[in-house]
Amino acid sequence: MTKLTDLTIRGALDGLAAKEFSAAELAEAHIQAMEAGRDLNAFITETPEIALERARESDNRRAKGDALGAMDGVPIAMKDLFCTEGVLTTAASHILDGFTPPYESTVSANLRSAGAVMLGKANLDEFAMGSANITSYYGPVKNPWKATDGKDAGKDLVPGGSSGGSAAAVSGGMAVAATGTDTGGSIRQPASFCGIVGLKPTYGRCSRWGVIAFASSLDQAGPMTKTVEDAAIMLGAMAGHDPKDSTSAPMAVPDFAAALSGDVKGLKIGIPKEYRMDGMDPEIQALWDQGVNWLKAAGCEIKDVSLPHTKYALATYYIVAPAECSANLARYDGVRYGLRIPGDSLDDMYMNTRGEGFGHEVQRRILIGTYALSSGYYDAYYIKAQKVRTLIANDFKAAFEDVDVILTPTAPTPAFALGEKQEDPVAMYLNDVFTVPTSLAGLPGISVPAGLSKSGLPLGLQLIGRAFDEETLLRAAHAVELAAAFNHKPGREG
Ligand code: GLN
Repeated sequence: MTKLTDLTIRGALDGLAAKEFSAAELAEAHIQAMEAGRDLNAFITETPEIALERARESDNRRAKGDALGAMDGVPIAMKDLFCTEGVLTTAASHILDGFTPPYESTVSANLRSAGAVMLGKANLDEFAMGSANITSYYGPVKNPWKATDGKDAGKDLVPGGSSGGSAAAVSGGMAVAATGTDTGGSIRQPASFCGIVGLKPTYGRCSRWGVIAFASSLDQAGPMTKTVEDAAIMLGAMAGHDPKDSTSAPMAVPDFAAALSGDVKGLKIGIPKEYRMDGMDPEIQALWDQGVNWLKAAGCEIKDVSLPHTKYALATYYIVAPAECSANLARYDGVRYGLRIPGDSLDDMYMNTRGEGFGHEVQRRILIGTYALSSGYYDAYYIKAQKVRTLIANDFKAAFEDVDVILTPTAPTPAFALGEKQEDPVAMYLNDVFTVPTSLAGLPGISVPAGLSKSGLPLGLQLIGRAFDEETLLRAAHAVELAAAFNHKPGREG
C-alpha cells in the first residue's frame, strides 16, 4: 500500500472509501510528518487538535452513511493568509501579532464544508509579497528538495513564494494538498520550485472574502496539489459565487475533474514568441520545447502567437500591486489589529507600530505604492500602468481567438539557494516574468512539474487558459502531466 503521506487527494478518497484507513489515521500520519518536518518551517501554526477533531467527524459521517463532501477526510495545509475563525492568522507579519479572526474566510469555510481537515497554517512571504518565502516574520521556509549537482549542491534552497510553506508542505509529504494565493505568481512559481501542481484560477472564481488583501484586483486563491486531477477536485471545493465579495463571479462551478478526459486531440496550443527571452537558460528552453512536442504527440495543433506588450508586464505589475497594497495595508494602524508600539502622540504610535510591524519588503512596496498614487504621479504611473494592463489583457484576448491554451515555462530558473537574491529586489521581481502577465489579465494559469534541471531540481511548465475556462486548461495540463510522468521525490536526506 502507498505510504499515507504519499497519497493524493484521489488516493486518499479511494482509500477512505475502501476503509483501508480512517481519516483519523490519515490525519495522524500527516501530523507526525508535520512534526518531523519542522526544520523546513513550512507551518506558522500547527493545529493538530482541529485536524483530529475534523478527521473524527469525517469518520463518523462515513460510519453513519451521511452525505460526504468532495474532500471528506483529506488533510490540507491552509496558507496563513486565509482568516480562520479562532485560529491565529498572521499573514507572516509582525504587525498581526496575536490576531485571531472572529470569522472564517469563504474559501476555508467551503473547504471545511467539503470535509477537508485543516492541519495548520502554512508559512508565506509577509503579506504574500515575495518570490522566495524569505520575507516572513516567522523565518524562511526551506525547500524539501536539494540540488544533487552544480553550485547549490547540498545547500538549503528556497521553496519559491509567496505560498512557499504550502508548496513545501505538499512536496514534503506533510499535507495531501494546500491552499495558496496568487497575485503575480505566488501559487505557480512555488509549485514549479517544489515539483507540485499549482493552479491560479480565473480572477473571480474563488471568493477573496476573508483572505488578507495584498492587491485586490489581482489576488486569487487556488489549489496546490500533487496532481492535476487533485487540483481539479480541490478547485471544485474552493470555488463558487460569494455575495460577500463583489468581485466574485456569479458562475456555476462545473465538475472540473470530469473535464480530464485525457483527450486533447485538435486542441490549439499557442506559443508566445515574446516569452523567448534573450538569455533564457537553455535548460528552460529545452523543457519548453519538450512540452510542445508532448502536446503535438497527443494530437494538439501548435501555433505561434504574439503577446506584444509582455515586456511591460513586470513594470506594470510592480506599480499596480504596490499601489493597491499601500491602500490595503493602511488599515494596520496599531488600533484595530495586532501589534501596537506606544508613542508620545497618536502619530508617533502609528509610526512606531508600522515601522516595527512591517518588514523591509512590505515597507518598500508601501513607499512605491504611495508614491505612485500621490498627486502629480498618479497619472504618470498609476493611470499609465492601468492603461498598459488593458493592452496586456487585449493581447491575450487576441491570442485566444486563435488558440485554446497557451504554453510557457513557469519560472526562468529552478529553486535557488537560500540567501541568494536577498539584497536585490529587482533580481527577485524578475522571477515573476512568466507568471505576472496572466495575473494582470485575470486569466487562469497552472504550473505542472515537467522535468528536472541539470542540478536535479524540479522545473514546471505553465499553461494559461481563457477566462473561466479552467476545464480546457486542466485538460491540457493533464496531457502534459501524463507525458511528463514526473514521479521524482525530494531527497531530503541528500
Ligand atoms: N512575487 C510576486 C510579488 O512579490 C507575486 C506575489 C504573489 O503572487 N502574491 O509580488
